[in-house]
Amino acid sequence: MLPEVQDTILTVATPAGRSFHAVIRVSGSEAIPSIHEIFVPSANIKLENLQTFVSIKGCICLPAESLKIPAVLYVMRQPHSYTKEDIVEIHTLGGRPIGEMILQYILQKKEGLKDGLRLSRPGEFTKRAFLHGRIDLAQAEAIKNLIRSQSDSELDLAILQLSGNASLRIKDIQNKITSLCTYIEMSIDFSDQDIELISRMEMINKMEDIRNDIVNLMNKPLTDKISSEEIRTVLYGKPNVGKSSLINALLGEKRAIVSDRPGTTRDMVTGVLEIGSVCFKLTDIAGFDEAREPVFLQAREKAQGALKSAHLLLLVFAGNEKMDIQSLEINHSEVANNVIVVVNKCDLMPESSSFELPEEVKKYTVVYVSALTGEGLERLKTLMFDKVLAGQIERSNTLHFFNVYQKDAMQRSYERIEQAIASFRDTMSDEFIAMDLRMAVDILGEVVGEITTEDILDKIFQEFCIGK
Ligand code: GDP
Repeated sequence: MLPEVQDTILTVATPAGRSFHAVIRVSGSEAIPSIHEIFVPSANIKLENLQTFVSIKGCICLPAESLKIPAVLYVMRQPHSYTKEDIVEIHTLGGRPIGEMILQYILQKKEGLKDGLRLSRPGEFTKRAFLHGRIDLAQAEAIKNLIRSQSDSELDLAILQLSGNASLRIKDIQNKITSLCTYIEMSIDFSDQDIELISRMEMINKMEDIRNDIVNLMNKPLTDKISSEEIRTVLYGKPNVGKSSLINALLGEKRAIVSDRPGTTRDMVTGVLEIGSVCFKLTDIAGFDEAREPVFLQAREKAQGALKSAHLLLLVFAGNEKMDIQSLEINHSEVANNVIVVVNKCDLMPESSSFELPEEVKKYTVVYVSALTGEGLERLKTLMFDKVLAGQIERSNTLHFFNVYQKDAMQRSYERIEQAIASFRDTMSDEFIAMDLRMAVDILGEVVGEITTEDILDKIFQEFCIGK
């Protein structure tokens, strides 16, 4: 059950801090009556007769303070407003303190009003927009991100979310499940006749596709723009193991200096590699043992900085040498999830020899490649891409398309599909499969707010600032 909306709410919508302009925003059935006493139009106009989307000049009169401040009133009549309720906004000169004084004044005069009038809570305007069906939850999340966005890519993402892209994808998955479910339920109805509406093969394929769609939606960046957030990828290893050669081979062009004299890579070499829609910024850094000489101290410091801030670490070893991981001074607990061990020069490894992997390395994904022949490079790219898809790469600035409640709902709906697949494999009756599929549809509804508890709504909208 969604909460009922009754009170008229108001706030100073301009943020705290120095400002020369104050905005008082009021939403609800009493929006216009609430400002009757303080807003005096310059022309002879009755406020209650105003249509939607009009603005009129006038002034704010606060008799107690003997103040008359020029102001403009904007009126948006329900349902043609953000909240789908009557909204009035008073724009006036002066900063937030003046705005708060006007607010106090309006609140003191509330006795004559029919319904309640009170200060709004954080995000309450947007919550009303949601409750009245103006936006769905994914779009509400977008509005929050839009307000908070601090970079172009964050802004791009918020605008994309706002366009309803996420909701469309969810609805698309819901439709796929519903149509599959319909087939299964019809098959149950016709089970005594010899009609096959959907083959077993088709059923499992469709369920697996749906499961993959959900996983992709949970983890995958949704546009190229989002992937403009580069994955900082550091190739790290002793001198001469072939880091620069690997960058060249991955980029398919000569970027780094390659030499068979150990220690040629003095400075960081970088290049951007695009895999799928994800950009990896590759950095080749000097192995520490070459950095013992004072001339390399600066490079070493730079290298340590790059290691710390790396999203993805490619530990590079040469397949024709003993793997000396200790000399790399890696803190394994810190890097845990985001390491791929790359054993290069596999062309120099005799086929019969089995490369002895040290204990510390066994927990990591290991890939054998040759920068010289190109062997294994495609596999390495796939592994790098998979790390991003699986959400294993922690980015401080990760842009979240969905909030934690929505992600939780997607996870639960994924589990329902998994259950349906398991029931199918255990040849359970089709009723069980259909039941799980129906539940998956309902749970997905939570992502766009078709089904939501008030408690969750409160938590989501609390994260907004007041006035939004
Ligand atoms: P870095 O110091 O780790 O950047 O190593 P470089 O990329 O400069 O390579 C050192 C030497 O190893 C060069 O002579 C490369 O040609 C050679 N090398 C790099 N990768 C391979 C490989 O996969 N196979 C073979 N046989 N040689 C390689």
